[in-house]
Amino acid sequence: MRIYFIGTGGGAPSFRGLPSILVKREGISILLDCGEGTQWRLMQHSLGFSSIDAVFITHMHGDHVLGLPGLIETMGLLGRKKKLYLGGPRGMKEFLEYSFSLTHFSPQFDLEFVSSLELGGLLVTAFPTCHVIESYGYILTERDRVNLDAERLRAEGISDWRILKSLKEGQVVKYGERTLDPEEYLSKRRGAKVVYTGDTAPCDYVLRAAEGADLLIHDSTFLDEPEAHQFGHSRAKDAALISQRTKVKALALFHISSRYADSAPLLYDARRFFSRTFVAEPLSFYDVKA
Ligand SMILES: [Zn+2]
Ligand SMILES: [Zn+2]
Repeated sequence: MRIYFIGTGGGAPSFRGLPSILVKREGISILLDCGEGTQWRLMQHSLGFSSIDAVFITHMHGDHVLGLPGLIETMGLLGRKKKLYLGGPRGMKEFLEYSFSLTHFSPQFDLEFVSSLELGGLLVTAFPTCHVIESYGYILTERDRVNLDAERLRAEGISDWRILKSLKEGQVVKYGERTLDPEEYLSKRRGAKVVYTGDTAPCDYVLRAAEGADLLIHDSTFLDEPEAHQFGHSRAKDAALISQRTKVKALALFHISSRYADSAPLLYDARRFFSRTFVAEPLSFYDVKA
């Protein structure tokens, strides 16, 4: 799974751009949040958007959603035929319908509103977060992979594809005098897990969702703003403490306020509590492995 950080700032626009993350895996593309300017930033980086299969929005604050009507209208202009899956909070469907009707646009491709989605072995599910309005985070999980040790079977003189197929399906197979136990020939590779919080104060729902993730992308709006939590946001060190508790493999600081021209102090502060922290730099990418 490759994570492209398209825009990583929060609130007002800055050089970091507004929140948007593109997740790509084996031909599947999923966009998480779509702040204003997202389509422009995707174009600048030749990421294209005709391949996007689904867009999930965390909440209806403008910095996360105002790029979406424009993105969908451009998809229409480019002659898209492929269905687009959309997930998000209440109001998103009406927001899009109003925008389309007032700008005289009607998509010539299907829009399907979903609460969760599985595409090509990648599962997207939502969980509530602790923000000032209805808000969700998203968990992206790859299905575990089962591999059959065909080489070992071949070495033992077994190459009949029907036997291989049965073993892969977990069935015990009789082969002459022998009984072949699938457990001996199968190995499981755990799929990777990525969690994106959207905007949130430190939150029990996030603690539950993030458990054991390979990458946590967490709201890190502030360095030391005393009212951060009342605003429904986190400080970089809150994100680090949550990462420590949930034993994630890596933490990306995200949704950094435009008041910070330099993100280094947020990074240093977070690393005091969780060393595997990095700043989600705009237009960078990160490869996630389980
Ligand atoms: Zn925001
Ligand atoms: Zn917000």
